[in-house]
Amino acid sequence: MTKRVLELKGESAFAYLELTAKAREKGLDVISFGIGQPDFVTPKHIREAAKRALDKGITGYGPSGGLPELREAVATWINENYGCDVSPEEVIITAGAKAAIFAAFLCVIYEGDEVIISDPSYPAYESVVRFLGGVPKPVPLREEEDWAFKVEDIERAITPKTKVLVLNYPHNPTGTTLTPQQVEELLSLAKERGLLVISDEIYDFFLYDGVHKPVLSDPSWRDFVIYVNGFSKTFSMTGWRLGYAVADRRIIERMEVAANNMYSCPPTFAQVAAKEALESGLDWFKPFFEDYKRRRDVLIEELSRIPGVSVVRPKGTFYSFPNVDKLLKLTGYETAEKLVVDLLFEKGVLLLPGTAFPFEAGRRHLRVSFTVPVNKIREGMARFREWVKSKIREGK
Ligand code: PLP
Repeated sequence: MTKRVLELKGESAFAYLELTAKAREKGLDVISFGIGQPDFVTPKHIREAAKRALDKGITGYGPSGGLPELREAVATWINENYGCDVSPEEVIITAGAKAAIFAAFLCVIYEGDEVIISDPSYPAYESVVRFLGGVPKPVPLREEEDWAFKVEDIERAITPKTKVLVLNYPHNPTGTTLTPQQVEELLSLAKERGLLVISDEIYDFFLYDGVHKPVLSDPSWRDFVIYVNGFSKTFSMTGWRLGYAVADRRIIERMEVAANNMYSCPPTFAQVAAKEALESGLDWFKPFFEDYKRRRDVLIEELSRIPGVSVVRPKGTFYSFPNVDKLLKLTGYETAEKLVVDLLFEKGVLLLPGTAFPFEAGRRHLRVSFTVPVNKIREGMARFREWVKSKIREGK
């Protein structure tokens, strides 16, 4: 086994997905607050478009960078939503945003390059950076500051070896985000210090408080930005494996070669449906968005009723990241991992341990996805609460 491949780490949310399947096989009626995917199927008009594409025989290979008509639709989508100036050849369609993240780092990381990543963070950044011989440099987000990004902390982490600043906003797993002013400050900082910015904005349509300003709104983005987004979350298309990146054409060209080596091209009939998804707009999404907001509020209310739990109200995404330090002490658990497994098999409730998210900040936390209907949130949290109370009683 190569040293290099041993540096890669899988996203443990997927391991818990399998564990949940085992719990269900044992007959448990599991309420899963685990993996981050919307709980409704892809909207009908998108599924129908895929069926039509299949019936038309769109089942073969396509260009490695994606179908030209979808690249064009993505450019139009970004430009119309955010007033940017992206052209289709500056877009690559990838097999999920994850492949865009991989290909982006592949294009820019040299051995020894330092990469600034928030702590906690979505796991792929750290894994891929290490794999490529880069050095992840965690910058802590602090719970007592509502997990907010601090421009000063990021500035302090810059050294002569820093190559890339990774941004992810709205942020998985904390639900925090960057204000437009912070985006501007960070982009100025990156330009001043000669850093590349890889910005993962896959939750841009899941923002409940505030306004989203993409990094592509900087007129000089081509000089220093790789923007990542995808279809998985907004359009509930996680299984379709479609994402995209935007960057200077020279980077996109190399990302296409990387994609070509990994998977040749993204699935063609799925891309036809993705074009339909963009062109038919998000009117259908409005009630879902309102529902997510309500779910957030209900979840925060329910979490606050559990002994030993405190939680920051997320501004975006469909995640909350409660602190369970006191709960662990009250129940006698040493780690959140152990608690999560017992809770799953004893009560049929899946939560993720904060340690599923690099680096250190999540040790005494859980990630709870609110991709569950309100009544199930109430039921799942009631089960969790009763379980915690019984553990406290047992311990006494
Ligand atoms: N980026 C972030 C921050 C995510 O949370 C996820 C999925 O959970 C992804 C990227 C990957 O998305 P995709 O399904 O498009 O690969």
